[in-house]
Amino acid sequence: MISIALLATLIQTPADTIIDLSKRDNRAMAHLKELCYDIGARPTGSPEYLKAEQWAVKKFKSFGIKNVTLEKWGEVPVGFQRGPNNSASLIAPFKTEIQFTTNCWMPGTNGPAKGKVVLAPKNMEAFKSMDLKGAWVLMETPTSMRGADSASEDAALREAISNAGILGRIYGSKDEYLTTHGSWQGKSFENRPKNVEVKVRKSDWDRMFSYIRLGQETVAEFNVDNRWIKGPIDVHNVIAEIRGSEKPDEIVVIGGHIDSWNSIGSQGACDNGTGTSSTLEAARLIMKSGIRPKRTIRFMLFGGEEQGLLGSAGYVKNHANELEKISVCIVDDGGTNYESGVNGIEAWRPFFEPSFAAMTKAFPEMPMAFNAVEKYNASGGCFLYGQER
Ligand SMILES: [Zn+2]
Repeated sequence: MISIALLATLIQTPADTIIDLSKRDNRAMAHLKELCYDIGARPTGSPEYLKAEQWAVKKFKSFGIKNVTLEKWGEVPVGFQRGPNNSASLIAPFKTEIQFTTNCWMPGTNGPAKGKVVLAPKNMEAFKSMDLKGAWVLMETPTSMRGADSASEDAALREAISNAGILGRIYGSKDEYLTTHGSWQGKSFENRPKNVEVKVRKSDWDRMFSYIRLGQETVAEFNVDNRWIKGPIDVHNVIAEIRGSEKPDEIVVIGGHIDSWNSIGSQGACDNGTGTSSTLEAARLIMKSGIRPKRTIRFMLFGGEEQGLLGSAGYVKNHANELEKISVCIVDDGGTNYESGVNGIEAWRPFFEPSFAAMTKAFPEMPMAFNAVEKYNASGGCFLYGQER
């Protein structure tokens, strides 16, 4: 994997050896398969997330790294997990399968829930003329990657619909993608939301909407197998360290985030199984090469990234006195495909260009470029990026 060999050049080790090793015997895909097939998608604090923490510790140790720790960065008040029994169908006017998702930390249906689909009333007057008991309510509320914009719904009407004995609300995605978001904020095992909300593809939403408008009886069944786990649950960053031989006080951070979303069918591979597996493989190759880096390398797999960079923010808080010593922080949270370079300030050019030249020489079909920008725009992945030095 090209990014791993790049890391090798950045930490000033004889890159050829590590590049050769990475070409000859690359295990990045094997790590990714273990994480995503055997463990699965990993919302922060879920059983899969906790399993992944332990798995990563074992992996780092198996490479011969002695200093491997789980550093607690916080607690999740209530855990969330998807069970295996998720399904949805349109029953009338004809039977067909529907794809859907829900946000994390949202309730399930307690088994299959079948009911008439009705259009959401637009105001209290319309609400009073309808019987919503046992119905799925088709919402016209706009949605984004984060879910339904329920703040745009009339609060009193929302409350009235919630208390009308409905099976749940159906929101439509803006397109054919079904994305998941959500948070444990303001929730606990005892005080968890009760209203089921599912999101379907735009095309499925459109046809249900059309059938209802045409006066055709529209019936749907959703089995939403969402599960709650009593907290608080301790959550950690996985930290593994190779001590530097010449400048052990100076630290190079290499990492990714080990948590992911878990939309139905997702394995948490792109975001950020890829960063996790390349971090592990970088560690393995460096250990395997027998080369001692000059600076200390700290491999970090952060948690809580998807809820707002929480794990890396926790790291910054707990290691405030070490921030001065961090020479570079490389976090791979870009998904798949190869690293084609970086955007950075002009002063970085002398550090990156020699590394990129070595990489382009080794992998000419995947050239790398340094693009100078006026201001470095840190986005996502790691809270450490935002730290003024
Ligand atoms: Zn990410």
